[in-house]
Amino acid sequence: MLTPAACAELIRSSRSLVALTGAGLSTAAGIPDFRGPQGLYVTRRYDPEKVFEISWFRREPQHFYAFSRDFVATATDVRPTFTHRFLARLEAQGGLLAVVTQNIDLLHQQAGSRSLIELHGSYDAAHCDGCGKRLAQLDYAWWQETMAASPDPPIARCSACGGVLKPEIVFFGELVHGLAEAEELVASCDLLLVLGSTLQVAPASLLPFATEATTVIVNQGEVALPPSPQRHFVEAELDDYFRQVAESLTAR
Ligand code: ZN
Repeated sequence: MLTPAACAELIRSSRSLVALTGAGLSTAAGIPDFRGPQGLYVTRRYDPEKVFEISWFRREPQHFYAFSRDFVATATDVRPTFTHRFLARLEAQGGLLAVVTQNIDLLHQQAGSRSLIELHGSYDAAHCDGCGKRLAQLDYAWWQETMAASPDPPIARCSACGGVLKPEIVFFGELVHGLAEAEELVASCDLLLVLGSTLQVAPASLLPFATEATTVIVNQGEVALPPSPQRHFVEAELDDYFRQVAESLTAR
């Protein structure tokens, strides 16, 4: 296993570091996993198809918004983890080019990451299906207010025309955001960190194949990536591991 000190050394000597992050980083913060045994799909009986299929959203957005009401209520109280903040700090110090994430929960933004590709979008922006108006830099308080204004069924509506607002989250049946840019970043980086992703959801799962760079994969549980000489698999709790990495980085 790659020790935290050895990982710190790789980070220190990297000229172009990119991080790819997935659900494990969010669950560590307290965002419920959608798919796991305690996931919202299971515990709250949401049908993932009705919640996240774009064709369902066009017809009956109340399914998505019933889910969103719970998700937003949970996410409001969640704070970024040490690892989120570690990545943001690394970027601010010039040691990280970008974070590419599969997560939709705004935690990287809240931690201070600026060079950020949210492949599956987020609640940060929305547009109106009626008049086309676009709203940006939205936070969870805004979503709660807007959903509360149209509570039965809960749907966020456009203040200008009353149309249904669609958050710029990528639904099943829509293209992911920023994929070409993410591919380019990963292909040209000299160190790739893959954090908290099981690499089961395409196209993010394909990104590590786009590079010959040294790749450090930190996750609890299986990761769907074959071993190779340039890949280091670390089975660890993210915050535990990166607290030690951060200590090694500052120790010198
Ligand atoms: Zn509108």
